[in-house]
Amino acid sequence: MSQHSTIEWTDATWNPVRGCTKISPGCKHCYAERFAERFRGVRGHPFEQGFDLKIVPEKLAEPLNWKSAKHIFVNSMSDLFHEKVPLDYIRSVFAVMNVAKQHQYQVLTKRAERLEELNQRLPWAPNIWMGVSVENEEYLYRVDHLRRTSAFVKFLSIEPLLGSLGKVDLSGIDWVIVGGESGPGARSMNEAWVKEIRDQCLRAGVAFFFKQWGGGQKKKAGRELEGRTWDQMPELVTISSSCAMTSTQDVGTAAAGSRVAAF
Ligand code: SF4
Repeated sequence: MSQHSTIEWTDATWNPVRGCTKISPGCKHCYAERFAERFRGVRGHPFEQGFDLKIVPEKLAEPLNWKSAKHIFVNSMSDLFHEKVPLDYIRSVFAVMNVAKQHQYQVLTKRAERLEELNQRLPWAPNIWMGVSVENEEYLYRVDHLRRTSAFVKFLSIEPLLGSLGKVDLSGIDWVIVGGESGPGARSMNEAWVKEIRDQCLRAGVAFFFKQWGGGQKKKAGRELEGRTWDQMPELVTISSSCAMTSTQDVGTAAAGSRVAAF
């Protein structure tokens, strides 16, 4: 949990859940697992139990105490929709996001099926951005699950990109992040795969963020694509609780056509 994050597309991380289990090829070199397992058995350390899944209720209220507005990556060290996280607890996390409205929350999951299954039971708010991870063409079905949710802002984290995605249906999607894998054993990413996604985002008017090339020397490889950085973010959906808009369709209509804001 940190008020400051080095992740390029967020300001802070908040981990009311710790630990996870691997579910697809994108998890192979999971950074969170590598980090957590270093501390297994270290008494008193937050990751004393390594990467075993654990809910952390004492961390629930943390964003309420952060006064300045931030983009907060929810569960950078876990997956909120993991099957072992009880629905009531997920609802508590959503309740905090509804109360601490000064922030924008970026929730990311690979458990897209469970996300859709629980969708109707979650109190969505405009400041809750919901994303799914997709690493190759085989997992594009996660985007369909996301599309069917009531999230106001929907995004894709295509990291680590492990192959060409081919044609991606970007309807209803507000933001796409692409990145290569970094660290020991990093799998390489082809420039053509990145450009293929970037071009589809440009055509569809979807904000595009290129995070990094990755590889063994991530800093050296940098994050420029065709001579520039791509730091687009979705336009914020600003709706007060007294707003006359009552459905996600209304919000979607209002936001359509001008989804991209370059920071
Ligand atoms: S879903 Fe995310 S946190 Fe969980 S093992 Fe995979 S990469 Fe790691």
